[in-house]
Amino acid sequence: MAKEAKTKAKKEKLSDRLFFKLKSGWEGIDKKTDKEVEDFASAYKQFLDKGKTERECADTACEILEKNGFVNIDSSGAKLKKLEAGMKIYKNIRGKSVLAAVIGKKSAEEGFNILGAHIDSPRLDLKQNPLYEDSDLALFDTHYYGGIKKYQWTAIPLSMHGVFINEAGKKTTIKIGEEPGDPVFTVTDLLPHLAREQMEKKASAAVEGEDLDILAGSRPYDDSQYKEEKEKVKLGILDLLNKKYGITERDFTSAEIEFVPAFKASDVGLDRSLIGAYGHDDRCCAYPALAAIVALAKEKSAPEKTLVLYLSDKEETGSAGNTGARSVNFENFLAYLSVAGKTDGGSFEKMREACMRSSMLSTDVNAAFDPTYANVFDKKNVSYLGKGIVLEKYTGSGGKYGASDANAEYVAKVQAVMNKNKVQWQCGELGKVDKGGGGTIALYAANLGMDVLDCGVPVLSMHSPFEIISKIDLYTTYRGYLAFLKDL
Ligand code: MN
Ligand code: MN
Repeated sequence: MAKEAKTKAKKEKLSDRLFFKLKSGWEGIDKKTDKEVEDFASAYKQFLDKGKTERECADTACEILEKNGFVNIDSSGAKLKKLEAGMKIYKNIRGKSVLAAVIGKKSAEEGFNILGAHIDSPRLDLKQNPLYEDSDLALFDTHYYGGIKKYQWTAIPLSMHGVFINEAGKKTTIKIGEEPGDPVFTVTDLLPHLAREQMEKKASAAVEGEDLDILAGSRPYDDSQYKEEKEKVKLGILDLLNKKYGITERDFTSAEIEFVPAFKASDVGLDRSLIGAYGHDDRCCAYPALAAIVALAKEKSAPEKTLVLYLSDKEETGSAGNTGARSVNFENFLAYLSVAGKTDGGSFEKMREACMRSSMLSTDVNAAFDPTYANVFDKKNVSYLGKGIVLEKYTGSGGKYGASDANAEYVAKVQAVMNKNKVQWQCGELGKVDKGGGGTIALYAANLGMDVLDCGVPVLSMHSPFEIISKIDLYTTYRGYLAFLKDL
């Protein structure tokens, strides 16, 4: 090619300058970054496999925080001390939610930089009195938790997680179906040969919530001493549980037992660019948020502003309850950061001032474009797998109902920070107008007067037992959270 022609080909097209175009995050990736993406994905998969419930995930997060020098303010007496720049603290809320902070050089009244994710995911919870026997089969009765397509939860291997608490308050933790060689559980489904009626029903009615019963066993208790007993299969199951954990049927009435998919997180696709797992929503944002605050806590000098991490529970059922984002736990922690150890007595006004001046990312997932279901998405406004962290100005549904619509000023500010740090971002709206919608914890934080923007990873098959994300988006999200904590 002649020199002239080359220059001409290189010349920027007007549309390159004026259009908002997105490229794949994989394009032009260098070897070093590629390895960082892969390493981050491996660590994330381990995090997922270790914490499949809100309790396990909170424990795992606290373990990571402890390992990195964060001090539990409830167990150390640190609460009495004055908070000083560089201090790393955390609080565990009833074993299901975690708040952590790295104290900055600036005073609380200048506001905090906050990342808030949720660590609960849709699942099947046992009822209070769940175990029954029918036709020589023992079954557990459940009540599903969060928004699920019920038919997706049949005929897959499930594992059993949770806690029993006895009258003395002693906690027995159980986890069955995760270790190699463990038995698993399942909800049975009807064979196609006899499913004519079922298949004619609406998908929402094909499997009823009351029919999500879990197969627990089939072998009658065998002891000549107990010949007269009825329900021998149920008896056998209770006998096993009693021998191993010391519990009886009555102990289920106070327990929290959750059934989740038994499979592990794994790479998806021949090119291994994707991760398939249970619980990406919202651990694929919780983990990068946790990793970002831990990375900054390791830096020699304290951050400018105080950095806060909030891992909340109960988001999938509307954030209600004393471990959810609507509770005062979040506010109490911010109040503590604002007034702890202040000799002038610290005040309510100071905490309010801190809230008003704080900036937060509601770090939650977004529905990625799925070509198989193209008609529910607005192609211009949906997020795409592989195209980076999603900045979602508003959520809600039908006329932006229930949305925390972030201010233009704030969205532009977050975008500027991403641009400065070369973090590829994209927009995301949850489906076409009036096709549905959803919310996050953003509005509860916004109610405190702070700036909040929804910001996270695009997901395929969201709320299914096996959700899909892209490794490059996961890593880009981590980098985006780092940029936000550091530079906003
Ligand atoms: Mn979510
Ligand atoms: Mn969700």
